[in-house]
Amino acid sequence: MSESKTGMTSDDFRSLVVAMAAAIEANADRLTELDSAIGDGDHGANMKRGFQAVLGELDQLATKPVPEALKAAGMKLVMTVGGASGPLVGTLLMTLGKELPADFDRQAFVMAYEKAVDAVAARGKSHAGQKTMLDVLYPILDAMREGADPDEVAARARAAADATVPMLATRGRASFLGERSIGHMDPGAASVALLAGVVARTLQTHQGA
Ligand code: ADP
Ligand code: MG
Repeated sequence: MSESKTGMTSDDFRSLVVAMAAAIEANADRLTELDSAIGDGDHGANMKRGFQAVLGELDQLATKPVPEALKAAGMKLVMTVGGASGPLVGTLLMTLGKELPADFDRQAFVMAYEKAVDAVAARGKSHAGQKTMLDVLYPILDAMREGADPDEVAARARAAADATVPMLATRGRASFLGERSIGHMDPGAASVALLAGVVARTLQTHQGA
């Protein structure tokens, strides 16, 4: 089993993927409803398909060091999900895996996460303020840089997802609606906030943080 300075082991990785897939499954209808309001109603199904595919390879993934496992999981998402969210969340995980040293501490994680969020923005040709998942990914980065604990990071992520409601979408499918995109939460933002909550809970269970 590989262990890093943060104490994140392959077993932790396994628990994390299982918990993420379960949370996506439990919230798939809500995510799809959000996407029905300002998109094409497939976000819940897209995320579910992606995480089920990762879950299907978990035994193999858990034999790899955590950065390698993240890279492989990201690649799986890119390959399995047809919608915009697959390549974007996939790029996040792939870049995290690529940038993380085998033995990483919190500071190394934050640096790798910053590169990963920038890679999502590059892939989506997007930036903060356009009512997308980036409007949660960047606030998570800010919270981590400020030294927030995982619970606080998750709370900031939820608040950031809520803050997409009054925003005007200028990127992604929701931008086709123009002003009518106002008044609904961005589905990708909701997914990222959900996953941040899962990470916080899993870290707490495994590290007593
Ligand atoms: P699709 O839009 O192809 O149907 P999904 O419904 O699965 O894909 O995902 C939609 C989510 O993807 C949006 O809510 C938004 O958060 C995110 N998204 C879409 N396009 C972009 C982009 N260019 N940059 C960042 N995020 C994006
Ligand atoms: Mg969609």
